[in-house]
Amino acid sequence: MLRSARLLLPIALSALLPAGALAQFGTSPARPPAAPPPAPVITALDDIRFLSADALAGRMTGSAGADTAAAYLARRFQEVGLQPAAGGWFQTFTVAKQAPVAQHAHVGGLMGKNVIGLLPGHDPIRRNETVIVGAHYDHLGLGGFGSLDPDSTGKVHNGADDNASGSAMLIQIAQHLAQSRPARTVLFIAFSGEELGLLGSAYYVKHPIYPLTSTIAMVNLDMVGRLRDRRLIVYGARTAKEFPALLDSLNWHFGFDLKARGDGYGPSDQSSFYAAGRPVLHVFTDLHEDYHRTTDDWQKIDTAGFRKVADFTTGVVTALANRPSRLTPVDVTPPPPPSTASNNTPQGYGAYLGTIPDMSDNPGGVRLLGVRAGSPAEVAGLRGDDIITRIGDMEIPDLQAMTDALRSHQPGDSVQIVIRRGTTSTTVTARLGTRGG
Ligand SMILES: [Zn+2]
Repeated sequence: MLRSARLLLPIALSALLPAGALAQFGTSPARPPAAPPPAPVITALDDIRFLSADALAGRMTGSAGADTAAAYLARRFQEVGLQPAAGGWFQTFTVAKQAPVAQHAHVGGLMGKNVIGLLPGHDPIRRNETVIVGAHYDHLGLGGFGSLDPDSTGKVHNGADDNASGSAMLIQIAQHLAQSRPARTVLFIAFSGEELGLLGSAYYVKHPIYPLTSTIAMVNLDMVGRLRDRRLIVYGARTAKEFPALLDSLNWHFGFDLKARGDGYGPSDQSSFYAAGRPVLHVFTDLHEDYHRTTDDWQKIDTAGFRKVADFTTGVVTALANRPSRLTPVDVTPPPPPSTASNNTPQGYGAYLGTIPDMSDNPGGVRLLGVRAGSPAEVAGLRGDDIITRIGDMEIPDLQAMTDALRSHQPGDSVQIVIRRGTTSTTVTARLGTRGG
């Protein structure tokens, strides 16, 4: 596309050629140089079109297309007034060869890049605290792994809603906040490796730019371009005591059909931060028939809806970055299993333990990022950083073995779980529950 080609080549041709080299193209007499045209206004839809163009080949972590996307996002961050953090725009990580996903997606050893832009706070004290706004920019590349289209291997999965939309919204929010800097420092992070198991956000949490203890909240934008019937979902709404009132009061102006619900664990990057004890929100315009298929294209983005969600989320981030006091984190017990499960968990999936696996590593067992509040795992005494090596009479070398072990049990079974915690090995007993929460 022409627009994309122009964005890829911001340097004028003449700047790349030796002086006089263009003379051969012109026969007319020399004219005074014209004033340069005003810089074109780049809209959010331009950003979405660029990121989801076929040329970027679906932005698979570690691919050339993902690198082009990362470079583009860094340039856009700079244009709207952000500064590089951590000595540059990129925080790089290597996909562990033993990561559960590495063998399926053939990405072991590849390098992912988080793009991080900084907006320093103006308040002399509160600028030492940060609010993180995040969105993953990686997608499924040429299908195969992660695709819901069975015969789409080799076809570009453009991922316009998932998650060029969230990446573009990061830029919009940054642009707005940069024009009137809030009290606290705001970090904008475009994560890679999300589709492979939250790899980029897990890496950030282990290597934060600012201490996580001074990170007061993380707001995640994942799939925000398909607003329908004014229905806006905000997960994690109970992970800080102050969130429900804040969301409600903002929504009084916007009039969304707001579904504010859930604990902080969900299938996106906010989980990494919630496991680290931070209040989180995930803004989401819900699943649709193009989710993880080759048809998730920019033409289907609802630009008016996108604008409303961007304005609403800008309000949320501004309020968080300016509020006088910090938030009160809440460790949320998930609700009982809903009667109409929205996550298509197949029946007979097995018993429920409530662990959140760390997908970025395989230390000879399943390392836990955390456990859900009130879950059988928590009741049994499991916690983040524990490594599960055995469930009942089954060895647990990896996540697949753990899934198999839980499938082989029934809700209500009591099982002995062997874990490694630091240098010691411990056995706990868990009474398994019903999956679906
Ligand atoms: Zn996805």
